[in-house]
Formats: sequence, C-alpha cells, structure tokens
Amino acid sequence: MNKKTALVTGANKGIGFAIARGLGALGFEVAVGARDDVRRKEAVERLRANGIDAFGVALDVTSDESVAEAAASLERLDVLVNNAGISGPGPQDPTTLDLDVVRTVLDTNVFGVVRVTNALLPLLRRATSPRIVNVSSNMGSLALRTGPIMAAYAPSKSMLNSITVQYARAFEGTNVIVNACCPGYVATDFTGFASPRTPEEGAAIALRLATLPDDGPRGGFFDDEGVIAW
Ligand code: NAP
Repeated sequence: MNKKTALVTGANKGIGFAIARGLGALGFEVAVGARDDVRRKEAVERLRANGIDAFGVALDVTSDESVAEAAASLERLDVLVNNAGISGPGPQDPTTLDLDVVRTVLDTNVFGVVRVTNALLPLLRRATSPRIVNVSSNMGSLALRTGPIMAAYAPSKSMLNSITVQYARAFEGTNVIVNACCPGYVATDFTGFASPRTPEEGAAIALRLATLPDDGPRGGFFDDEGVIAW
C-alpha cells in the first residue's frame, strides 16, 4: 500500500529505461511513459523480467490529448522524471537555422516538460514527498559552452533549465522539489552509442534527485560531480 509510484517519460529505451529500472530496483512502482505501443510493451516486459513492478502508460509529450489521457490513467504519483528528449535533425548551425527544427525541438524538450508536469501536478501535490526531475544537458549551460554547436538542441536545454528554476520558485514553501540534471555523454541511440558511458551511469544523477530527502536542494542543476554552472 505504501509503495511509491514514479512516471518516467521516454522510458522505452536509453537513459529513460535505465532510470525506470533504477527506480524499480529502489522499490518504486514504475509507469513506463512511451509513445509507441510496441516499444512500450517490450520495455515493460523487459523491466518485469528484471523483477521490476512496471506498467505502461501511452504518452506522447507533444500531444495535449495524450498527456491528459496519461494523467487521467494514474491514481497516484510521487515522482515524475521528464526524460523524453530529441536532438532534432543536424547540423543546427545558427547562421542557417531552420526555425521549424527549433519549434520541433522546443515542443518536445521544453513544452513537453511543461505539458506533462502541469497535467500531473494535481497528483504529485497529493504525495507526501513529490519529486520532479528534468533531464537536461550541460550543452544547455550558458557558462560552459560545451559540446558541438547545436542551435536548436542546446538552447532548448537552456530554456528547460530556466523553466526548472521558475517551477522551483513556484513550489517554494511546498513539498514539491524540482531539479534539473545532466546524465553526461551516454551511449544511446541519441549519441549513436559513441561513448563508453552506460545508460545506468547516466541514470544515476536522476535517481539521486528523484529520491532527495525533504530538505534536499531545489531548483538546481546537477551531474555526478555536483552543481553544474548555469
Ligand atoms: P534516446 O535513447 O534517443 O531516448 C529518447 C527517449 O525519448 C525515447 O524513449 C523516445 O521515444 C523518447 N521520446 C522522444 N520524443 C518523445 C515524445 N514526443 N513523447 C514521448 N517520448 C518521446 O535518448 P537518451 O540519450 O536516452 O536521452 C534521454 C534524455 O537525456 C534526453 O532528454 C536527452 O536530451 C538527455 N541527454 C542525453 C545525453 C546523452 O549523451 N545520451 C546527454 C545529455 C542529455 P521513441 O523511442 O518513441 O523515439
């Protein structure tokens, strides 16, 4: 009865799948948010084969209708991990930038997070220690200026960081704790698996932020090493 429930968006593969498995291993009931029926079912089966208490939730973060239906299908929620994200088609040179690419990337990486968070907030607010984790990227850091030039993707993560701070301010004095994290450069479809870092290693910081104590940090940006410069 006291089992906590977590929803991870984009949980059918990559870092999201590893976050789902990690939360399940910590004792959460895990809602696998994924937009494709087949990929979602396969992910739930793989998690269950790993002994995880998982169930699927149809969820396309770019669709108001899909997000509303996903929220209506849940009875309780303690943790929300906004992990779903896209890089958008390359090369994203700012001097030749296709604005439709920017719109598409923002719709998933930023508007998707707001859409999902706001639909699920009524449930989260009923939890004892609600946590929201936004999976961002150090490429969104204005201070670090790191990674390849990607004039749609990087600013989408800067805006996600900024929105995270706005949420943290709105949640001041409440039990809802929200933070952003960077998983590092991880071997997934997203990066063409061009990294030795595993999805499990990338998931670790999200797991920490999803299970923060009530006096934990709010509205911050973290990786395995600690605070990331905005
Ligand atoms: P990935 O393997 O490509 O997985 C992305 C996930 O997001 C997939 O499950 C995908 O679902 C889902 N997704 C995309 N658009 C969606 C939508 N509209 N609705 C629902 N789900 C959607 O990428 P990843 O490397 O695990 O990345 C996960 C997060 O980490 C992203 O936010 C990314 O920006 C961030 N990140 C990754 C790295 C890295 O090195 N990999 C570094 C920094 C930050 P489908 O299978 O249906 O496409």
